[in-house]
Amino acid sequence: MPRVARPAPAFAAVGDTPLAALAGVGPRVAEKLAARGLLTLQDLWLQLPRQYEDRTRISPIRSLQPGAAAQVEGVVEAVERGFRYRPVLRVAISDESRATLVLRFFHFRATQVAQFAPGVRVRCYGTLRAGQHGLEIVHPSYRVLDADEHALGEQLDPVYPAIEGLGPVSLRRLIAQALDRLPEAEALELLPAPMRTSLALPSLREALLTVHRPPRDADVGALLAGTHPAQQRLALEELLAHHLSLRRQRIALQRDRAAMLAGPGVLAQRLREALPFALTGAQQRVFAQVRADLAKPMPMLRLVQGDVGSGKTVVAALAAMLAVECGRQAALMAPTELLAEQHLGNMRAWLEPLGVQVAWLAGKVTGKARASALDAVASGAAQVVVGTHALMQEGVRFHDLALAIVDEQHRFGVHQRLALRDKGARKDSVPHQLVMTATPIPRTLAMTAYADLDVSSIDELPPGRTPVQTVALSAERRPELVERIRRACAEGRQAYWVCTLIDDSDEVVAQAAQSTFEALSAALPELRIGLVHGRMKPAPKQATMRAFKDGALDLLVATTVIEVGVDVPNASLMIIENAERLGLAQLHQLRGRVGRGQAASSCVLLYQPPLSGLARERLETMRQTHDGFVIAEKDLELRGPGELLGTRQTGLAAFRVADLARDAALLPQVRALADQLLAQSPDLADRIVARWVGGAAQYAGA
Ligand code: ADP
Ligand code: MG
Repeated sequence: MPRVARPAPAFAAVGDTPLAALAGVGPRVAEKLAARGLLTLQDLWLQLPRQYEDRTRISPIRSLQPGAAAQVEGVVEAVERGFRYRPVLRVAISDESRATLVLRFFHFRATQVAQFAPGVRVRCYGTLRAGQHGLEIVHPSYRVLDADEHALGEQLDPVYPAIEGLGPVSLRRLIAQALDRLPEAEALELLPAPMRTSLALPSLREALLTVHRPPRDADVGALLAGTHPAQQRLALEELLAHHLSLRRQRIALQRDRAAMLAGPGVLAQRLREALPFALTGAQQRVFAQVRADLAKPMPMLRLVQGDVGSGKTVVAALAAMLAVECGRQAALMAPTELLAEQHLGNMRAWLEPLGVQVAWLAGKVTGKARASALDAVASGAAQVVVGTHALMQEGVRFHDLALAIVDEQHRFGVHQRLALRDKGARKDSVPHQLVMTATPIPRTLAMTAYADLDVSSIDELPPGRTPVQTVALSAERRPELVERIRRACAEGRQAYWVCTLIDDSDEVVAQAAQSTFEALSAALPELRIGLVHGRMKPAPKQATMRAFKDGALDLLVATTVIEVGVDVPNASLMIIENAERLGLAQLHQLRGRVGRGQAASSCVLLYQPPLSGLARERLETMRQTHDGFVIAEKDLELRGPGELLGTRQTGLAAFRVADLARDAALLPQVRALADQLLAQSPDLADRIVARWVGGAAQYAGA
């Protein structure tokens, strides 16, 4: 089929129309929509339902099952207004199946109570649950019917993600208006015709209409599972857009030049010889990969992923030596002051004996110390610079930055990572980038999420580590743990007690940590116990962490703030409360704080029974394996990649339709399509990126 000329401008014109063009969108509504990244008609087309309500039929009450959602119609039998712990309104309705259902409201107005007169017919929709007196729906959406009203909905009703300050009905109307302006299929399409034919998926127009307005005979199961061909079509294009966006960044970056750091490697060799240990095979391999990259005249962009404790820092130090040897600077940035300080300690211990000067820049470095550090960085006297975000501040000027190393990069956004690179950018070159993470990503995902990076894996731990013995215990057995801590500390070991709660607000968790701290202090008066949580000011928090690191504290009660990177080899016992609430990646990170020294370590996962099936499986996985990659695969399987690939972790925005676990099978196709598009129609590639990766995508995960 010959290609139809001209579709693009029509699409661009309609799709880019600002939302103010819709009826009902004044400045206030526009602002609320904009707060969610919804600026144009196209943004609304791509704002997809997260649920459907089937209002095309009415289910007999007798047929209902708890857990299912249904539309029900019945006559009000009885109304009861009560007050137990809070006001409650209970409305019993019954239908021709001669069964009764209770509608339960906790928030209601007097007018609502008046509506439910016995004998009135209501139609309601909601999810059923087993109540004290049979089936009930809490806060159903409902409508009182006129005497002669019988018509049913024509289609499945889409339920959109809520937008603050905008009611669901108004939102649905706006989206319907936007859809009414959807251009015809050819004008909307960005995938070239031959590509589309080979995919055997619906056109974008058809896919959007199906997803927003599913016909009454649509496969609801597939729609709810996200496996409907219409959703696959959208997911494919979205994944393609994200992949293309990363590929483009990479292409742009490779057009830049970088310093060739191709010295003989004498400094790095001297560092290796001075280390008290031999590099593992994996460290050697990864360092060789980094070295090969650095020798090229284009900027390296390499991710080193390695499990907690796999020894990434020393690889970073070796890489820095290649820059220093060529008379250039290297910078190492860490997400927390504590971690940065730990790196500083290592770098000074390793590098100063080699005659390399290490400067230190962090928030708390002020006054004279800061001025002299800035001088050393600007003059080039400091060859290696270690610090926190402070490295990117205004006023920091590098003499000659050739290598920017970012540790635990998932804690930074892509933008911060790039900001450090930009610090070192000159007219004719940009620094090489090495990013390190202890959050392994399964290979399938890595290729998509990190399409802009080369990935190296340190997939081997240094020898002599004894695996952490992991047990899961019901919270009732908490008292036994006090004895266990007493014994460990009596032997000169240190221990962590990690507090987590279902309510993740810092304040509530901080309170829980505080009371745990008090209880443990009372039970273990002979121990030196410290407390850190997210509500503390940075200075006391770091002082406490440091005291623990220096052995001045025996037991550290903490929230998950200790999660990243902290290295206290003498700590050999960790207790994690409410472990059933944490994801695998986080449990793995936490557990990685112990088992870093020679002593056999253990980790106790305390849980509140009863355990859900998923929670049981997570704890079981933790007991069975220590391999971060296995855990990451399992995490993906159990939880989906949404969280694994949070915005911060990858720089990828949350997806609107795609789900990397569910849609993994599309990925090979995505890569093939991307290759083809970049080679044949880079302009279309750009427009696909603009369609999906602008506006809302940036906000979806916020
Ligand atoms: P991570 O990869 O989690 O950042 P670190 O770089 O902090 O790990 O290393 C963890 C510990 O292992 C440090 O105390 C480090 O000195 C030590 N280490 C690193 N490499 C080796 C090795 N090849 N043999 C023995 N110990 C090592
Ligand atoms: Mg580290």
